[in-house]
Amino acid sequence: MARPVIIGAGLAGLVCALSMAPRPVVVLGRKTRGNHTSSVLAQGGLAAAVGDDDSIQTHVCDTLAAGAGLCDEAVVQSIVGDGPQAIDQLLAWGVPFDRTEKGELALGLEGAHTHRRVVHALGDSTGAVIMKTLIERARATPSIMLIEDAQVVEIKTTEEKISGVVFHCAGKDHEISTDQVV
Ligand SMILES: Cc1cc2nc3c(=O)[nH]c(=O)nc-3n(C[C@H](O)[C@H](O)[C@H](O)COP(=O)(O)OP(=O)(O)OC[C@H]3O[C@@H](n4cnc5c(N)ncnc54)[C@H](O)[C@@H]3O)c2cc1C
Repeated sequence: MARPVIIGAGLAGLVCALSMAPRPVVVLGRKTRGNHTSSVLAQGGLAAAVGDDDSIQTHVCDTLAAGAGLCDEAVVQSIVGDGPQAIDQLLAWGVPFDRTEKGELALGLEGAHTHRRVVHALGDSTGAVIMKTLIERARATPSIMLIEDAQVVEIKTTEEKISGVVFHCAGKDHEISTDQVV
């Protein structure tokens, strides 16, 4: 069976590829070095209810209050609910989040949060540090073919089903056959 193709090597694409390992996947990303992803630019840290005195429900309430009626509560529940697990997964992949002198995660208090729940890596370099860690891990994962500096220009279909992805890399167009694209 053809390998799934993941378009974009930002945090979402890399997490998807690493989560699918050892299933073989291809990741097509525009320059993984430099500022071609929002993920590299993120500075403010990740909010997750990981503190001993915190809870997912409190984080949900704070988010809904800050959203002032604009939030979809089911989406907030889902994203906030997955927060602690996401932090655990990033730690397992080697992201060096900042720690206190006691070795616990250093939790910042920011914005509309009523509890300390914002984790950083190297202060305001959080996105860059996470991306560096995950790119290195993706490069070292045998099931991931990471093609850097690839720009997808077309998703091909045959009889209304995906049949391939065309991308531009090193001055040429290339095509990969696949029936699954993320
Ligand atoms: C300045 C800034 C600060 C931020 N601060 C925070 C913060 O403090 N905390 C927080 O939680 N969030 C923050 N965010 C939001 C956060 O960065 C994004 O929500 C997150 O990075 C999105 O990840 P992503 O993988 O979906 O997108 P991206 O990281 O943007 O990755 C998408 C990738 O797809 C690639 N791509 C697009 N089209 C193609 C194509 N045709 N072919 C190949 N590749 C393609 C792009 O080049 C890019 O590399 C910030 C965003 C910005 C811009």
